[in-house]
Amino acid sequence: NMITNHLPTEELQALDAAHHLHPFTDGNALAAKGARVITRAQGVTLTDSDGNDYLDAMAGLWCVNIGYGRDSIADVAARQMKELPYYNTFFQTTHVPAIALSQKLAELAPGDLNHTFFSAGGSDANDTNIRLVRHYWAAKGKPEKKVIISRHNAYHGSTMGGASLGGMKPMHAQGGLPIPDIAFIDQPNWYAEGGDLDPAEFGLERARQLEAKIAELGENKVAAFIAEPVQGAGGVVIPPETYWPEIQRICDEHEILLIADEVICGFGRTGNWFGSETFNIRPDVMTIAKGLSSGYAPIGGSMVTDEVAATLNAGGDFNHGYTYSGHPVAAAVALENLRILEEEKIVETVCNETAPYLEEKWMQLGDHPLVGQAGICGMMGSIAMTPDKSARAGFAGGAGQVGLICRDHCFSNGLVMRHVGDRMIISPPLVLTKSDIDTLIDRASKALDLTL
Ligand code: PLP
Repeated sequence: NMITNHLPTEELQALDAAHHLHPFTDGNALAAKGARVITRAQGVTLTDSDGNDYLDAMAGLWCVNIGYGRDSIADVAARQMKELPYYNTFFQTTHVPAIALSQKLAELAPGDLNHTFFSAGGSDANDTNIRLVRHYWAAKGKPEKKVIISRHNAYHGSTMGGASLGGMKPMHAQGGLPIPDIAFIDQPNWYAEGGDLDPAEFGLERARQLEAKIAELGENKVAAFIAEPVQGAGGVVIPPETYWPEIQRICDEHEILLIADEVICGFGRTGNWFGSETFNIRPDVMTIAKGLSSGYAPIGGSMVTDEVAATLNAGGDFNHGYTYSGHPVAAAVALENLRILEEEKIVETVCNETAPYLEEKWMQLGDHPLVGQAGICGMMGSIAMTPDKSARAGFAGGAGQVGLICRDHCFSNGLVMRHVGDRMIISPPLVLTKSDIDTLIDRASKALDLTL
């Protein structure tokens, strides 16, 4: 790369601040400090422009499940670019990578989720879902079933549709969101909102809010409920065990579709191929992205059951599609990623070895004086920092200043962990070894000590 090979870090940072608008970033703060310039990565390790190494405990943005530096993916992408770099899947055409990937996904996905509508990522897949479930009900002669129920503090993307489905208040505050016909219930975050209820009671209480919301809106108006099996960007919020069975019961008893947003949970993150398997959920629609290609190419999709697909197909043209739906290079990359996940038995190793070892070590961080609760589900974990271990309380203001400080101490100690308010979260590559886990925990403890 000519720029990184030739310019010193300060000059790269100045050019970046001058011309590059960053997602989810305060531009002035960035200009004052300069962005960290990442230049290379291999395995689970990132390298910056000053030659510092970091253990990437976030797998990029929860996506590099197979780790960095896979030559075979680069080879597949190069071959596909030479053979057919682009063609569309509109208007009665198709191509081999899209056919092969949709077939492979049907094989891997639970139940009869046998059909995929492709997108370029998770946000646009959730936009598709909004239109898809409304088109589904219209095709069934019930066009008034339009409302989608979601949850406060959910994250479903950054497009108008995705951010509307999400329950992030700071996002809704910018740009007049949510769009019409989206409703919200509370999140199953026992640590922050459980009050005097025990986790099991609280899980039921939060799930039954869905039933109450359906009753309030009228079942004839509700199209679907959408949720992440484990809330990711909301701070790795693992629901109590009672939560999902009750949600499933409510979706079964009322005539609404269940959309599982598996953008983070899919492809091994929770210790099974899909979070829906971990929590025994039977979604009608499943959002996928991130781990689908391990971030090597932008691709996502909406998977639907046989019944949903048959209804959609009976409804005539679905007037919806992206230029890059099923992009051949991205699809070929995703297929190679899935081949690696299967051939190296990565999900099995996570389930039997890596996740149990990570859990044992991660939960020990719960004993740290700064930590109120540690939680983990497969390969996604959180620790809630607190000024008072006995009170399940956050720091005053809740603006996440302590989280920011801890995150910076992580960076200085060679570890990338993210903070969400006062919670520190991890979602490392699934190929993490036991010795990588020891390093991660050692550096995280050091960062917590320095934050205290
Ligand atoms: N859904 C969930 C659960 C996510 O975590 C994300 C991204 O973090 C998205 C959707 C949006 O995906 P993308 O950023 O690929 O548009």
